[in-house]
Amino acid sequence: MLIHTAEFKCSNTRTEKLPPPVLPEYAFIGRSNVGKSSLINMLTQKKGLAKTSQTPGKTQLINHFLINDKWYIVDLPGYGFARASKSSRGEWERFIKYYLKNRESLQCVFVLIDSRVPPQKVDLEFCFWLGEHGIPFMLVFTKADKQSKHKTQLTIAAFKKALLDFFEEVPQQFITSSETQEGRDEILTCIGEINKG
Ligand code: GDP
Repeated sequence: MLIHTAEFKCSNTRTEKLPPPVLPEYAFIGRSNVGKSSLINMLTQKKGLAKTSQTPGKTQLINHFLINDKWYIVDLPGYGFARASKSSRGEWERFIKYYLKNRESLQCVFVLIDSRVPPQKVDLEFCFWLGEHGIPFMLVFTKADKQSKHKTQLTIAAFKKALLDFFEEVPQQFITSSETQEGRDEILTCIGEINKG
């Protein structure tokens, strides 16, 4: 799928103010610093569309980016930042989980995982939670340019193994790099297929 236009639509801290749920949307989420903003900018080929985080965990916003006037990329706030207070973590949970459970136009959640780290509890728990609530998701292993293909495959295998304790099948996976654009065509093709229905 080609991206002709990508524009920032709105930022929200409250779910009541989100755009009407009439266009399909695809949410991107992951631990703070996983490379989410870089990935969104890489997918849309628009540097600076999503703000790369200066202060991890500070912004608790849902950002909507309108693509080709037809669908949304939704940038969800990162989780698992060490310095966030317990109360702001609680708020994150309520806000984001409410969005994920109730957003009728949400097609799929792309869960970003750093391809260089072994399975992290916070990522696995988040995947389990999505599974429990029947929310469709796929895995995106980021920053693949930073290590060998073999090491990335080992990370993926370890993550899949951990998921199989809970799921019968593992979700689809993508390997990406915002530096080399690896994974861009695959993710956009996948979104194009879902949009076609
Ligand atoms: P976010 O907090 O998840 O939005 O992460 P950012 O997109 O701000 O990225 C965090 C850091 O990782 C920044 O310094 C990025 O330049 C770097 N980064 C993100 N993606 C990649 C990637 O694919 N390859 C490399 N080499 N660095 C990346």
